[in-house]
Parts: sequence; structure tokens; C-alpha cells
Amino acid sequence: MKYADKQCLRWAESILQEKGLQEWKIDFSPNNKGFGDEGLCLQDSKRIIIHWQEGKPNYPLMLHEITHIITGSGHDSIFAHEYMKLVSEYFIVE
Ligand SMILES: [Zn+2]
Repeated sequence: MKYADKQCLRWAESILQEKGLQEWKIDFSPNNKGFGDEGLCLQDSKRIIIHWQEGKPNYPLMLHEITHIITGSGHDSIFAHEYMKLVSEYFIVE
């Protein structure tokens, strides 16, 4: 795992902490074959499985999965609202 990947995972873990979701763990497995990035939330085992190409962390995807945990819903309006809230809270515009 490259530094950029670790940095993104630490960022996500700090958000989970702040939201009181520290029991959730993130499993990163690199996707170096050119498939699309993807994430999955396993509610039962409290795991986020996340794939992106090594060294190319996908911050929006990470936030997307955290939103699923918070809302417990699919891609509905509650999800969209919460996602936008997290974006404004945690994305630093460079
Ligand atoms: Zn989703």
C-alpha cells in the first residue's frame, strides 16, 4: 500500500471516529487491473471493503461508503443529503 492510500484510509478512519463509528474497519485491497473503483459495506461484520488502484485513492468513494453506514440506506434523498453534508464538512478545497 502506498503512502497516498494510507493517508486516505487514515482520513476515513478519523471521520468514522468523529461520527462514533469506530467499530467499523476498512479493508483496502488494491485494484491494479484497471477495473472500476468500488466499495462495499458489510453491516453484519462492520467492514468497509474498498478497491482502487494503488496510489490513486478515491476520496469521494470513501465518503460514499461512510454515508451508507450513517444512513443505512441506498441511494435515496436521505443519502444524497447526508453525502453533501459530509462533503462540505470534510472536503478541503485546494
Ligand atoms: Zn452506494
